[in-house]
Amino acid sequence: MANVILQNVVKRFSRTEVVHGVNLEIYDREFIVLVGPSGCGKSTILRMIAGLEKITEGTILIEDRVINDVAPKDRGIAMVFQNYALYPHMDVFNNMSFALKISNKPKPEIERRVKEVAEILELSEYLERKPYELSGGQRQRVAMGRAMVRKPDIFLFDEPLSNLDAKLRTQMRTEMKLLHQKVKATIIYVTHDQVEAMTLADRIVVMRDGYIEQIGTPIDLFEKPANTFVAGFIGSPPMNLLPARIISEDSKLMIDFEGKLQLSIPERKDAKIKEGMDIVMGIRTEDFTIDNGNNGFPPDWKVNGTVEVVEPLGGETNMHMNINGVKFTAKSEGRKTIEVGSKLTLALNLNHLHIFDAASTQSVY
Ligand code: ADP
Ligand code: MG
Repeated sequence: MANVILQNVVKRFSRTEVVHGVNLEIYDREFIVLVGPSGCGKSTILRMIAGLEKITEGTILIEDRVINDVAPKDRGIAMVFQNYALYPHMDVFNNMSFALKISNKPKPEIERRVKEVAEILELSEYLERKPYELSGGQRQRVAMGRAMVRKPDIFLFDEPLSNLDAKLRTQMRTEMKLLHQKVKATIIYVTHDQVEAMTLADRIVVMRDGYIEQIGTPIDLFEKPANTFVAGFIGSPPMNLLPARIISEDSKLMIDFEGKLQLSIPERKDAKIKEGMDIVMGIRTEDFTIDNGNNGFPPDWKVNGTVEVVEPLGGETNMHMNINGVKFTAKSEGRKTIEVGSKLTLALNLNHLHIFDAASTQSVY
């Protein structure tokens, strides 16, 4: 059992502040992912939780106990790094049991724990192999096994998959999820890869420049990004984010793209928009459909455009569209051939429209 609470946690390296008063509650047995561009403070936060880095200001609690001054080894934490160097001259068994031997655990207990963990990680057949006799994925699992044998309450992972090739990374993602279901521990996982964050997390913490931008489930962040940063960071291809202005036509608010294109705005009670406001309009690529005349969208949700670039992905196609001089990327589901230069009518699902205030970048609709 272990929840982790960060209260106004600040980190300065000499005079440079890199983490600016972070507040975060991580629930017991939650799989939480910190995601953000390189340099935003993810590793620093993880290292402060582990006790490898001193906290400049604020408090960290584990299971309601302040651990600011508790030694790393007494925090019930195990950390797996990106560069998880295994001891090259030791076999898998010895790599995995090393920490237990150092802490003078009895031999039968060491054997039992290593065998148990090897079973979970499907490494039982490889216990006598040296690291060079293993695949990249197996080596990665040994690194995790090394942490697991210590039976921590909390696992910290710092970009553990980023050294692996794309195929193996996908495979290891599935294994990470299975692992979490089996070990029932709290996992705090750091990555710069939003796909990894989306696929793994119970909740995601999006960070930027030492601040938390938004916390939520993957679907929360996808459906209701709080600002343009989160909107552009979560989802692939990224959300279309285009500068525009709110105008009023026949006393109805519309989105205007410099007179080239106007889009209607479905009525919404909590909208904080008004005429004359400079905005960033957001719409996801999957909220475009090639119109076939009977897909139920109102006429004013339809636009005509020209296909400028086609990216066929097999089961879907990304189309870079020019709509009256405004550029959108649209995704078309299903197997089909789309020609560059073709003229299409697209229906926009404006139920999924986003509007952000251009000045503050915050969501206003
Ligand atoms: P991330 O893991 O998100 O890529 P880090 O937490 O490693 O980011 O770094 C956050 C910021 O803190 C960066 O600007 C980095 O240069 C700075 N930083 C990290 N460690 C140190 C250090 N030991 N001394 C000075 N600055 C550091
Ligand atoms: Mg890092």
